[in-house]
Amino acid sequence: MKTFWFVVGSQLLYGEETLKKVEENAKHIIETMKTKHPIIYKGIVKTWEDANDIVRHANFDEDCLGIISFCHTFSPSKMWVNALQNLQKPWMHLHTQLNVDIPNEAINMDYMNLHQSAHGDREHGFIGARLDQARKIVVGHYKNKATWEQISLWQDVVMAVSVSRDLKVIRFGDNMREVAVTEGDKLEAQKKLGWQVNTIGVGHLVEEINKITDLEVATKLEEYQTKYTFHTKNIPAIKYQAKAEIAISKILREMKAGAFTNTFEDLYGMEQLPGLATQNLMAAGYGYGGEGDWKVAAMTRIFKAINKTASFMEDYTYDWKNGYVLGSHMLEVCPTIATDLPRIEVHPLGIGGKADPARLVFTGKTGFAKTIALIDLGHRFRLIVQDVECILPTQTMPNLPVARVMWRPEPNLETSALCWLTAGGSHHTTLVYDLPIDFMRDFADILNIELVHIHKDTDINKLKDTLKLNEIYYQLRR
Ligand code: MN
Repeated sequence: MKTFWFVVGSQLLYGEETLKKVEENAKHIIETMKTKHPIIYKGIVKTWEDANDIVRHANFDEDCLGIISFCHTFSPSKMWVNALQNLQKPWMHLHTQLNVDIPNEAINMDYMNLHQSAHGDREHGFIGARLDQARKIVVGHYKNKATWEQISLWQDVVMAVSVSRDLKVIRFGDNMREVAVTEGDKLEAQKKLGWQVNTIGVGHLVEEINKITDLEVATKLEEYQTKYTFHTKNIPAIKYQAKAEIAISKILREMKAGAFTNTFEDLYGMEQLPGLATQNLMAAGYGYGGEGDWKVAAMTRIFKAINKTASFMEDYTYDWKNGYVLGSHMLEVCPTIATDLPRIEVHPLGIGGKADPARLVFTGKTGFAKTIALIDLGHRFRLIVQDVECILPTQTMPNLPVARVMWRPEPNLETSALCWLTAGGSHHTTLVYDLPIDFMRDFADILNIELVHIHKDTDINKLKDTLKLNEIYYQLRR
């Protein structure tokens, strides 16, 4: 089971009795907090050796996702220096205290020796700053729900980072020709984010598609029938998508991959561009990026892996009058964001020169969401996050045979687009519902990548200044 380790700072100065109390109280704090993922007690740091020992084990324990430290008493910082420098897991510094107030009668010198987080944690904060170490600091009483929520959110971020660091992305074919934003340094992405991005020839996929049996196709069609409605008589087109889906998923499983890309320009030997196939794979939790966009494929997988409602998305066209964006793609929008029952339809694509592909058509659900893009600036990655409110589309658009989502970007269409273009955001994004910005901040902090947030108070001039400052910051830290 994946857990977070609770490590308590103290020292030998106060004697055995006090340390026994520290352990007892630490266990009580852990038991009281209702966090999303389990926290386990891992001991008291009293010496340089204790700190090193715990970190050594944390680094090598696959089930340890991160450590949470709290200094119940004063824990001299120098004993933590080597351990923290060697720590390879995300670190949270929890600043709390056993008692919620000062007990008037009970407070004496013994009490003072035991309950010292008010200054013990300041020593601990100093060493984090002095080492310039990435850490999440949470301040709050351990009985407060707000404290549990902050810890839980960070735990989810750590889970997402752990998914990122293990992620394999398969590219079926290359990127769409001449497109700039889908390019990027795959080696740098592996170094910074952990992604292993590799190509599988489309020929291999075609071989696998040709091996799929009628029985496998029949089983897949039964699955489609339970999840979607059929609005076509072209069953062979659906059967081809079923074959493509089974073949892609076999390859992804063999390669232990969590995301994939393809492009309509590289479908040699295939009959259709995978539409329904890709959509059903996204619904099963795989990340996807169109036109070879491996960055958006990976980002989409990361959110899906932590159970967020997310889809590959593209800014399609505008309703300039009302300030809305219509989001879609030529086929591949994930049905987990559908507000109605997705319909399987078969229509011509207009580009790519292949047979009419079967795809799911539906309307995306309403609610607060974010569109997220990761771009490669050559010397760093920039994560751009746009706050949006998804609404029901204002028109039925009966002749547009693709899944569609409509949203109102913050603060308004003009400023949002101005900021997005200034920051260099791509036309492909991951649309994620109900995602607090603190999640993205912590995610960027742990992975040490730039974050640009466009929200209701964003101002273009301030954003430009921020981008200039970020440029200096990242150049200096190279
Ligand atoms: Mn596209």
